[in-house]
Amino acid sequence: MYIDTHTHLFAKEFDNDRDEVIRRAQEAGVERFILPDIELSSFEVMMKLAEKYPCICLPTIGLHPTSVNAENYKAELDFVHKTIDKHKFAAVGEIGIDCYWTMDYVEQQRIVFEAQLRMAAERDLPVIIHARNSFHEIFAILDKLMFLNIRGVFHSFSGTHADYEKIKSYKNFKIGIGGIVSFKNGGIAGVVENIPLDDIVLETDSPYLAPVPYRGKRNESAYIPLIVRKIAEIKGVKEDTLARYTADNARELFGIA
Ligand SMILES: [Zn+2]
Repeated sequence: MYIDTHTHLFAKEFDNDRDEVIRRAQEAGVERFILPDIELSSFEVMMKLAEKYPCICLPTIGLHPTSVNAENYKAELDFVHKTIDKHKFAAVGEIGIDCYWTMDYVEQQRIVFEAQLRMAAERDLPVIIHARNSFHEIFAILDKLMFLNIRGVFHSFSGTHADYEKIKSYKNFKIGIGGIVSFKNGGIAGVVENIPLDDIVLETDSPYLAPVPYRGKRNESAYIPLIVRKIAEIKGVKEDTLARYTADNARELFGIA
């Protein structure tokens, strides 16, 4: 059994064949799908999908860093605050800081990230962290909030071994590995080689970041076995063993029965 800990199955890219995509993934052995929330405008379609597939598609709540701007961030954050206790969410996410697409709203991103970390800690929910060109900014905030014992996952990890070591210093974080591990120029194979099985969870980040040989095409959860094959090869372990460890890690982190 596999758990895709990060799929935006509610994205418009799946509007024409969402059920088919889920069926294909289930046939490939993917039994649970964590749906990381993005922003107010996508919340309802995410919840509809979660209601259609109870205990299979598990929603989260959070404001994505690339959805933060100076005009909207207060209203968006307010929505998260008002909604977080109204449903059962697997995590607070997707949250973080993104300095890749734009540096314009980094200050607002910091405010939103910290506020959501606090909301998660108050409810003992895990967090799903998006870090893109922003480990420095994210670590600064996590260092400040060390005392809150925040737990979660650094999703779609693309950092260095030093970044991994820093994440480990926070004690309760997993590393989400997806299609990037199969990219020749991704450069993370050497890092993944040294990450213990206890720390890894699987993800696609679909519809983005499809693994080789589908790189550049729409990604979907049915490609999880390709990611498993690649990680197993890098780490020199059996695919079964990797599947068992990563599913256990995901169950523990997100409280999946
Ligand atoms: Zn995502």
